[in-house]
Amino acid sequence: MTQSVAFIGLGAMGYRMAAHLPKYFEKVLVWNRNFSKAEQHAAEYGTTAVELSQAVQADIIFSCLPTSDDVEKLIEGVEIKSGSIWIDCTSGVPDAARRLVEKLKVQNVDFLDAPVSGQTVGAENATLTFMVGGDVDAFERAYPAMAALGKLIQHVGEPGAGFAVKAINNMLLAVNLWSVTEGFSTLKAHGVNLDAALNCVNASSGKSFVTENIFPQRVLSREFPVTFGLPLLAKDTGIALDLVKDAKLPAPLLALTQSLIQTANLTAEPNSDFSAAAKLYESWSKITLK
Ligand code: NDP
Repeated sequence: MTQSVAFIGLGAMGYRMAAHLPKYFEKVLVWNRNFSKAEQHAAEYGTTAVELSQAVQADIIFSCLPTSDDVEKLIEGVEIKSGSIWIDCTSGVPDAARRLVEKLKVQNVDFLDAPVSGQTVGAENATLTFMVGGDVDAFERAYPAMAALGKLIQHVGEPGAGFAVKAINNMLLAVNLWSVTEGFSTLKAHGVNLDAALNCVNASSGKSFVTENIFPQRVLSREFPVTFGLPLLAKDTGIALDLVKDAKLPAPLLALTQSLIQTANLTAEPNSDFSAAAKLYESWSKITLK
């Protein structure tokens, strides 16, 4: 049986992710709040721009919106096809996933929390990592659709587990971004050439995704290209800290990082990339990382 697939939310991630689907599925429906983006997607990739009420009649429905709140509000107003699977790629809130699983069960719809990592470049190259929470049978049925967009498709547990893994992953990114900012500002204060220092760290035990990619490409280059908004990272660190609180664990480093990223977000220029969090530290240290 030919499956129809829909993609809801054609933002920085969704626009690129949905572009791969026509290679694997005959019928690919797209919807976006600003509908002209859906029409542009259809013209560019051979998808079909439809109303939301039609999009939710597909066998497999992807969504990728900023927050779980956005997804819950959107789902409130629609009648979804019975027997379909909803794959939510939003970096969302675990409690929302559990609520949506229960809510959609009544309509005979499976809900998977399936956030992704790999940035817009991973969306473009279909090399994303999917971290998926929810029913194993639904995961297996949805696997081919996710595999069309990603490289590692990993089931991580019960509903909400995917969102939890994603939030902690992004918290680790934030911790690293901030610590590299402090470390490299210190090196600059000591007169060290930062490109040379980066070469050494990237061949040593302190290397990370931030030192290998984010610092050279975004911070030291002073480009700060806006592909992953700072408000989204602030949201993710907030979700991670809520998880810590729920678990009643001490996490001083994570709490401090959440607060720093929150402050960076409040003081940043509107529409800043997450890497621009480094600019808050620059404003304190009076050192420009270049
Ligand atoms: P964008 O801000 O680029 O896009 C958001 C999309 O959601 C747009 O299509 C927007 O529509 C739509 N939207 C926003 N609010 C609503 C609403 N209330 N109802 C319906 N549609 C809405 O975000 P990203 O694509 O960057 O991120 C999406 C999700 O993916 C986030 O949860 C983010 O944390 C996560 N993520 C992002 C990554 C990145 O590198 N950018 C990497 C991994 C995960 P419109 O065009 O009308 O504004």
